[in-house]
Amino acid sequence: MSALQLVDRISHRSMMDAPISQDLLALRRRVSEMEEIQDQARVAVEKLGEAVEKLRAPALRLGTLLHQLPNGRALVCVGGTDYVCNVDPSLPEASLETGGRVLMNEAFAVTEAFGFDKNGPVVRIAEVLADGRLRVGNEAGVSDAIVIRSSLLGKEKLKQGLDLRLDANLRVAVEIIGTSKRIDRTLTTVEALPWSSIGGQAEAVQAIRDSIEMPFLHAHLFKRFNHPVPKGFLLYGPPGCGKTLLGKATAHNLRCQIREKTGEDHPEFFLNVKGPEVLNMWLGESERQVRDLFSQCREKAAEGHLAFLFIDEAESILGTRHAGRVGSNILSTLVPMFCTEMDGIEALHNVVVIIASNRADLIDPAILRPGRIDRKIRVRRPDQRAAREIYQLYLTESLPLAESRDELVSAVLNAHYEHSEANRFLEITYRSGRRDYLHRGDLASGAIIAAVVERAKEYAIKRSIEKGEECPITKADLLKALSHEYRENELFPPSDITEDWLKLTDFDPGNVVRLAPCRHVDPDQAPEASSI
Ligand code: ADP
Repeated sequence: MSALQLVDRISHRSMMDAPISQDLLALRRRVSEMEEIQDQARVAVEKLGEAVEKLRAPALRLGTLLHQLPNGRALVCVGGTDYVCNVDPSLPEASLETGGRVLMNEAFAVTEAFGFDKNGPVVRIAEVLADGRLRVGNEAGVSDAIVIRSSLLGKEKLKQGLDLRLDANLRVAVEIIGTSKRIDRTLTTVEALPWSSIGGQAEAVQAIRDSIEMPFLHAHLFKRFNHPVPKGFLLYGPPGCGKTLLGKATAHNLRCQIREKTGEDHPEFFLNVKGPEVLNMWLGESERQVRDLFSQCREKAAEGHLAFLFIDEAESILGTRHAGRVGSNILSTLVPMFCTEMDGIEALHNVVVIIASNRADLIDPAILRPGRIDRKIRVRRPDQRAAREIYQLYLTESLPLAESRDELVSAVLNAHYEHSEANRFLEITYRSGRRDYLHRGDLASGAIIAAVVERAKEYAIKRSIEKGEECPITKADLLKALSHEYRENELFPPSDITEDWLKLTDFDPGNVVRLAPCRHVDPDQAPEASSI
């Protein structure tokens, strides 16, 4: 019984005696006040006790959550050691993320989710394993390790060469930092490609030989005549007409020529990159890529290789400001960077830079100044004569042919280049209002011709399988393949947008107001396919 309750009892029993009752009331008030003060003091003492307790308690540890386990437990790594820990059941499950930090109490139970940490070592992906885990390493030669992905990266498409940040316990990849220093899309050696494996590009081949082979093979004459030696050249022309092929053939043939003339063998190193691959949304990353491409080539040249840097779709990184598809700030720094790198190359020191574009008009003129890439070599669409050469290259005599090769080639050539209505492919409307048509032949390319022959071979193979005997390639196979190729060829833009189509033609955009593909009948019912 509290003191106050005791006073109440006494006052109740002595109700009759008025003067005592007055005193009791006063006593009651006093006792009540004292009890209140006592309560307040107790609370204050308790609080102080708690504070003292907190200050004396050891710090709590943070761990990295590796996996959630059944029955309210989790696998947590703390300071390099794994623990199976109980998880406070009041913690929402969604707050526990793989790779996230968790707070552990003294009993090593998870009591709180602490989010992802903001720092940690950066590593590079060496391999993405089939189950999504990552083999990572770094350039310092530290041995590779296998890590898992945090829930932040669970669905990210990760590929080799990408830089990642690990958690503090080095077990989980937490964040993507950027792409690798080295572009992995490279081709270090090229297949044997004699000039004769390129059809209908005699002019371009000659220009390349003059600008690259000659100075390499007759350096003393160039020196004697004080004639500048180019460090590279630009190949421009429509897609699929052999720019890459010419680049690779340059590497192969230069190696052969040097070997023949000097007896020295410099194996080729052919670095093949597409402009858009270099572009990167991370600030400064594209510049780093370009610098690295050059340094890779220089390194290889120093080792005795003949290094070629081939940049396809160059207008995307070396274009004038308005040409780029991305913010001009990237381009405006890439072009000067590229020029500096070009200026740093010594001609004839085994590094050749080849840039290829189907929009040479968009390449920044600074790139094309003397001393940089001052040779511009045009790669044309094959005319009928060139197309014959290319058809002959792919339709070799050794193949099973239903008729003589010349007859087959002439038949498919006629169908390809005929100015017939069925061959109309693009309708052009000029500013003057005049209309014209481009026929299939006007948009022919080496790639299309190669694909036509390959497709015709497929038809003959299928027929041979069906009939159980060797069926040679016929005219009908070639013509059907031709129609299919023009319908499906990926070199033609799928849209009707004039600008996309203009890129494929030689027209001055100023003169053309509209350029639209002609709609075609189904190739299987096309006259040339059914008439045979
Ligand atoms: P580009 O770089 O101009 O877009 P490519 O050189 O990549 O074109 O050509 C694609 C393919 O088309 C080549 O691998 C080759 O099979 C074929 N091709 C293109 N042009 C020719 C050509 N002039 N002679 C032989 N094959 C060619």
